[in-house]
Amino acid sequence: MNDPLQAYLADARSRQLAELMDWLRIPSISALPAHREDVHRAATWLADHLRQIGLEHVSVIPSDTHPLVRADWLHAGPDKPTVLIYGHFDVQPVDPLEEWETPPFEPTIKAGPHGEDLYARGASDDKGQIFIHVKAVEALLATTGRLPVNVKFIVEGEEEYGGRTIQEYVTRHVDELAADVALISDSHMLTPNQPAILYGLRGMWSAQVTVTGPAHDLHSGSYGGAIHNANQALCELLAALHDRHGHITVPGFYEQVRDLSPEERAALAQVPYGEAEILAETGAPALYGEPEFTVVERIGARPTLEINGMWGGFTGDGFKTVIPAQAHAKISCRLVPHQDPDRIEALVTDYLKRLAPPTIQVEVRTYHKYQPFLTPPDLPAMRAAARACRRTFGTDPVFMLEGGGIPIVSVFQEELQLPVVLLGFGLPDDNLHAPNEKFHLPNFYRGIATSIALLEELAAA
Ligand SMILES: [Zn+2]
Repeated sequence: MNDPLQAYLADARSRQLAELMDWLRIPSISALPAHREDVHRAATWLADHLRQIGLEHVSVIPSDTHPLVRADWLHAGPDKPTVLIYGHFDVQPVDPLEEWETPPFEPTIKAGPHGEDLYARGASDDKGQIFIHVKAVEALLATTGRLPVNVKFIVEGEEEYGGRTIQEYVTRHVDELAADVALISDSHMLTPNQPAILYGLRGMWSAQVTVTGPAHDLHSGSYGGAIHNANQALCELLAALHDRHGHITVPGFYEQVRDLSPEERAALAQVPYGEAEILAETGAPALYGEPEFTVVERIGARPTLEINGMWGGFTGDGFKTVIPAQAHAKISCRLVPHQDPDRIEALVTDYLKRLAPPTIQVEVRTYHKYQPFLTPPDLPAMRAAARACRRTFGTDPVFMLEGGGIPIVSVFQEELQLPVVLLGFGLPDDNLHAPNEKFHLPNFYRGIATSIALLEELAAA
């Protein structure tokens, strides 16, 4: 990075922070209809800002739910790559409000153990992280009048609300969004000084399971012992989905799961996270899961089947000796490459129906599906990101598999045929989706420098 740029960034810090705080004051909660106008205001705020710093073709694209913002700068030349930068300006709801130490939409700076933290809903997920790239582009345009690569921004307003609008938009605007690489900062590093790049994300299949026995609830004195209890039948079905060691017993469930090579297992063993860390974070009394895999492998490289909720029968105060006619469960599978959510849906549904005794009926209704994601860590764009991290953090990033999902990633990969670089600047304790969300400010500034370095490295790659 050259000296005028360094000087510019040093000078701009307090203004950049003040701007981010302004944006964070807009309560753009996409899941709550009462905040629909606020989501729109956050979009307009961003669009105005992108225009001010010199981006072109800036527009707020309306939809029947929440808008998208897009913008570009395409003057680096046809021999330079085009980088598609994605983020989201909507945020999660804030309840329980009473657990926030400072109001969620009054951004507050507090001293933390490793430097200052900015507390606000959306600080880390994802306004603060997408703003890193906005400020990187601003700094380059302000000091050099140009960017080293062509840049397109596509920023959505309903990531926390299903993200349907952007998925449809991408599918219908493949040419407009054409690029050479996508860049997403909506994830976290391991520690304040240890950058991380994700090369895999888990996919998802989720469903509601309903067990139906008799036509209506029954008196357990009159019928107990002769009619199968729907709650019991549901427990029996769900209990049969795992063995004692945490393996999923659905036939064919693991068929498409990619084997880890000895090299990849060795690399994952370098990730400084294990039994002690996970037990401390969760407060669980002991570790669970497939004994032949490490904690990092279980979370990133292995699929799961979780029971997220169960209900049925009488659960109120007092007592009612009922045989419930129906029992329900929400179940979900985190899927790994190369599992296909459609195939998993069929396998689990068939298995539950086959397991069901003649005393009950079982119905499985799919709620949500998206593909897992995997990208080779040795792609040129991934290596460029690693060099950018080394330049600003002074250390090599670790390459990690993330247990969660970012549905847009596989849409970019499949519809736009793009490699996707997932370079996050949050921290594991940022309290995403929880009270007291924060963003570590030293990594906001280092993130801006890393983004600049990455655009430079991509131009040279
Ligand atoms: Zn996010």
